[in-house]
Amino acid sequence: MSPRADLKPRLYSPGPTEVPPYVLQALGSPITHHRSPVFSEYLMEVSENLKYVVRTEQDVYMVLASATGTMEASVSNLLSPGDKAICVRGGKFGERWSEICTAYGVEAINIDVEWGYAVDPAVIADTLKKNPDVKAVYTTLSETSTGIVTDARAVAEVIGKTDAVMVIDATSSLGATPLLTDQWGVDVVVGGGHKALTIPPGLAFISLSEKAWKLAANSKCPKYYLDLKKYRSSLAKQTTPFTPGVNLIMGLRESLKAFREEGYNRTMRRHEILGEAMRAGVKAMGLEIYPKAPFNGLTAILAPDGMDAGEIVKTLRNKYGITIAGGQDSLKGKIFRFAHMGYADRMDVPFMLAATEMVLADLGRPVAEAGKGVGAAMEILNREWPKLASITD
Ligand SMILES: *Cc1c(COP(=O)(O)O)cnc(C)c1O
Repeated sequence: MSPRADLKPRLYSPGPTEVPPYVLQALGSPITHHRSPVFSEYLMEVSENLKYVVRTEQDVYMVLASATGTMEASVSNLLSPGDKAICVRGGKFGERWSEICTAYGVEAINIDVEWGYAVDPAVIADTLKKNPDVKAVYTTLSETSTGIVTDARAVAEVIGKTDAVMVIDATSSLGATPLLTDQWGVDVVVGGGHKALTIPPGLAFISLSEKAWKLAANSKCPKYYLDLKKYRSSLAKQTTPFTPGVNLIMGLRESLKAFREEGYNRTMRRHEILGEAMRAGVKAMGLEIYPKAPFNGLTAILAPDGMDAGEIVKTLRNKYGITIAGGQDSLKGKIFRFAHMGYADRMDVPFMLAATEMVLADLGRPVAEAGKGVGAAMEILNREWPKLASITD
């Protein structure tokens, strides 16, 4: 598409997300050689700040891959063919856990959760009781395809009482919803940079607890590029086993500096306010939120009766320059998803709500009362946003 002044491209998709100017600028830095003292300094700074985001004292390794790369690493590094693992499936990303396990000859015991609902920790407890030889439980913090958030603390409590290792896919949620890794006893966290951490796609993260490293010591699945022992011994020498994503790391460095400056708790509360305001606006407009346990970084909205959500997505793109996401598989045509994670402030909420209202009118389904959604959101934003300044950590 040729550049236009009258149709600004705007990205509200749940990955990749909008990249802030201070990150874009760093991405364009002259290339630093990865075997140089100055790059080692950057690497260690970014590694420290990643530990701050992941809330762990363990190393957080960066892999040049999309987030599925470290999802795969968490299977190939922990398990052996023939091992049993529980996979919680309540959407596209939970299904991916099961597919990766199967690809490595691991027996996947699937817990199928109705889409739109979060897993009940008691079901995990029960499945573990019935299968005491399970080595790992694969879960998803925010299931981006449905917009739910898992009660990771309760799940960790259940799994922590057993010998099984808890793995959580925190790709879209890392930096947008609390995950107190060490405090809650979550063993393995995987994630990526192109959701709430505001960098372009290409970096995936993983951290392992002591319990997970013990399991990893006996793992017989084949691995080479994703062999985490290589990443561990390299990072101890302030370097990486292979050529890292040098400029992505330069971008992440700026993103994490901004994150630390804002502070963990304030960032979490910001996302909470954005999520609450967005949901209040959607409901005031007369629309329905799809997930029963909504994630604050993303709002999945049910298309009104008889409307194709795909038309909403297409019209937003073609007429307004706004990119959002539709539904996948059984949710195709049923939901449309706006992200408000990472580089998102209070003005994004009325913007997304107004866009929704405009597109519904375009498609012949105007809301009952114009501006009611924006008004409901503004009420929350005006009340809660100023309080963010008093959160200092
Ligand atoms: C985006 C995402 C992934 C990773 O997908 P990639 O295409 O490999 O980046 C995994 N899990 C969740 C929950 C996600 O949102």
